[in-house]
Amino acid sequence: MRVIVMLAISLLIVLSSCNSAEEKTSDENVSTKQNQDKVGQEPKQSNEEKTDVSPDVEEKNGEDQKELAERQKSLYRVSENWSLVPIEEGTNEKVVLLTIDDAPEKYSLEMAKTLKELDAGAIFFVNGHFIDTPEEQEMLKEIHEMGFVIGNHTYSHVNLGAIENNPDKQREEIIKLNDLIEDIIGERPKFFRAPHGVNTELSKQIAIEEQMVLMNWSYGYDYFTPYMDKEKLTEAMVSGKGPEVDVPYSLLKPGANLLMHDREWTNAALKDIVLGLREQGYEVLDPHEIKTIE
Ligand SMILES: [Zn+2]
Repeated sequence: MRVIVMLAISLLIVLSSCNSAEEKTSDENVSTKQNQDKVGQEPKQSNEEKTDVSPDVEEKNGEDQKELAERQKSLYRVSENWSLVPIEEGTNEKVVLLTIDDAPEKYSLEMAKTLKELDAGAIFFVNGHFIDTPEEQEMLKEIHEMGFVIGNHTYSHVNLGAIENNPDKQREEIIKLNDLIEDIIGERPKFFRAPHGVNTELSKQIAIEEQMVLMNWSYGYDYFTPYMDKEKLTEAMVSGKGPEVDVPYSLLKPGANLLMHDREWTNAALKDIVLGLREQGYEVLDPHEIKTIE
């Protein structure tokens, strides 16, 4: 009997704390909403945990926050068709990944500043021949320190298919660049994108040995002549359509991996591209949330 009474009391406590959980202050609601945006179903779990009211609840939440931050690093994985898919159900799938290739030539730093102002993450895929002077190296460092992810795009932008029979050269193109990047920013790239999207069996193997995730892209238009223009490029990137290059349908889909380059017109269009994508309800993915090879 005593046990039943105890159970009934504790049930009442749980129920009443459930009610109070619903009547949260607006501040808590705001933070819950932010969490929902980030990690989907996680807040439900943490609300349930909060019903278990105990004196160390503050401390526990602190630990939860830390765990949450850890888990946020791997919310998405790169799929077979190079798009970004949520690892767990409940994570926002309506995201796009921004990538800037052939960096940092002329416009990357300005592009990074534009993205930073918009609070939009991106991966900058860099080439060795753009980071072989102290000034260029300083630029790479600055882009990295602004919070952007640096990826490997080979040392000299070689078509790996053309050097398929030269394994030493392939290794050099990929590994020498990782060594150089590590010297400059203190860490090795975790993503690899082959120039023109052309990989060889060996380059795929080297990427894995170097603990880099392979990544091509879903769509990009800035390297086609009709889109070497601010307005035309913005329209194509935001709609996903490139009718002038035989893409009359939209390639903009949840998880789309967007290819852009260090180019004058792309630099000019970048802000409008981000704003246009967001207007359609797409979240710009933080590349730190992509699962890497550890
Ligand atoms: Zn390239």
